[in-house]
Amino acid sequence: MSPDALAELYAMAHDPAVAWMDYAVCPEVDGELFFAEKGDPVSSGAAKAICRGCLVIAECLAWALDNDETGVWGGTTETERRRMKRKPKSVSGVGLAA
Ligand code: SF4
Repeated sequence: MSPDALAELYAMAHDPAVAWMDYAVCPEVDGELFFAEKGDPVSSGAAKAICRGCLVIAECLAWALDNDETGVWGGTTETERRRMKRKPKSVSGVGLAA
């Protein structure tokens, strides 16, 4: 490993922005579940169930939203996070009563 790569690895390992990853449950289970083919509800459902027992689910979800991650992160699929990021639809027609 080059000195630059080693320095980058060291910096990432000590980056407080990713310190929550030390508490992630997913490295202990089959990673394939988290990166299944799109539309595979069995694998994504199993991954999401694992996330529900993870202490850092909120931090993980925030990371995935900020970094446009693929796969299941923070108990959500890529499609679900895409929906979360969309702006709320207009509520025109709903106004203050005079
Ligand atoms: S919430 Fe899910 S994807 Fe995120 S760290 Fe925990 S187990 Fe892994």
